[in-house]
Amino acid sequence: MYENYVKARNTSWEVLIRCGIKELPITLGTIADYYNFKVIAYSDTNLTQVFKNEVVDGDGFIVFSKDKKEIFLNDKVKNRNRRRFTLAHELGHGILNHNIDIVHYRNSEVDSEIDMQELEANVFARDILMPSTVLAALDIHTPEEIMKICDVSRKSAEIRASRMELLYKRNKFNLNPMERKVRYQFDSFIRNYRNPT
Ligand SMILES: [Zn+2]
Repeated sequence: MYENYVKARNTSWEVLIRCGIKELPITLGTIADYYNFKVIAYSDTNLTQVFKNEVVDGDGFIVFSKDKKEIFLNDKVKNRNRRRFTLAHELGHGILNHNIDIVHYRNSEVDSEIDMQELEANVFARDILMPSTVLAALDIHTPEEIMKICDVSRKSAEIRASRMELLYKRNKFNLNPMERKVRYQFDSFIRNYRNPT
């Protein structure tokens, strides 16, 4: 359980570094491109002929198609931030090399699943969309601030905000060299955010 958390968290740092991402909100398309994942909207396909209803009714999923991983997003989901979280979650499955032979689908941003792959994908999604080292450098506390700066739903922002309070209390940011690297990579973004030129 803790190993799953650490693995997903460390991978989120690695991805931010590798993709050279320097600003919030995180551009998930950059990450999908870097890993050569194709992102497809449900409405651009005839999914119902290929997948079971329980799959198609979900927010999204990832599959292997020939030599490429393809992420399908349910564009009937009206909440844009929810679709964004789903994309981050599915990127997590793809990058963490989860077993995607069996289609995993999701309906919720809350960890109700026991499945460790689902937990890892959710941790990855939160950490990639709302990197705590960057939020801490900006001294961000409230869900409202997190929603605005990270472009996430209120639900995700609230979960992150309460986690941030815990991290602020412990004050153990940037102990991991990878996290420090992320922090440096966002340096000019952080300086500009507080003192726009
Ligand atoms: Zn999933």
